[in-house]
Amino acid sequence: MNALRNDDPLVDYRSKRDLRRSPEPAGGRRRRPRRGEPTFVVHKHAARSTHYDLRLEVDGVLKSWAVPKGPSTDPREKRLAIRVEDHPLDYATFEGVIPEGEYGAGAVIVWDSGTYRNRTKRDGREVPIERALDDGHLVVELHGQKLRGAYALTRTGLDRRGRERWLLVKKRDEEADPASDPTASRPESVLSGRTVDQVAAEAV
Ligand code: MN
Repeated sequence: MNALRNDDPLVDYRSKRDLRRSPEPAGGRRRRPRRGEPTFVVHKHAARSTHYDLRLEVDGVLKSWAVPKGPSTDPREKRLAIRVEDHPLDYATFEGVIPEGEYGAGAVIVWDSGTYRNRTKRDGREVPIERALDDGHLVVELHGQKLRGAYALTRTGLDRRGRERWLLVKKRDEEADPASDPTASRPESVLSGRTVDQVAAEAV
């Protein structure tokens, strides 16, 4: 069964959810390479505790990390990022409310989105993003509406539940800005302009 599991990266995603009850996309893996730069998205997710979910398009799915404190624009800030299950590409535009009792229950907004470039290098040569993920170190240049410039993601180990712990850190570049805090100053969705509280209230 392992071969089958490895062949479908969304098995974990579907097994965690009742997609008849949750409005989240059932999705699928898009096998045809898409034109242009790959997508990145950061969801803000008011689950049991509010957190951010960073997602990078790799190989037809969204590789995902839950970032409890959200991304920082300050290169001195190391933000814990827990690797979570791959999500379908359709999830990049998902906003809504995951019903009570379902996995990740709570409101979700698209807090930022755009495209990214892989800037991971070793010995002066670019490391393919799939390899960088396996190696546990990647550098991505984000072209979002709020987040811009290079961020490093580095795996540091496993937590007590066996999930991968990574650190998300802003690289020192022209987009680094210790004084700004877009999670506080720009809480709204880049898709709809709504906050998570507004999305939650509309669902009642
Ligand atoms: Mn989440």
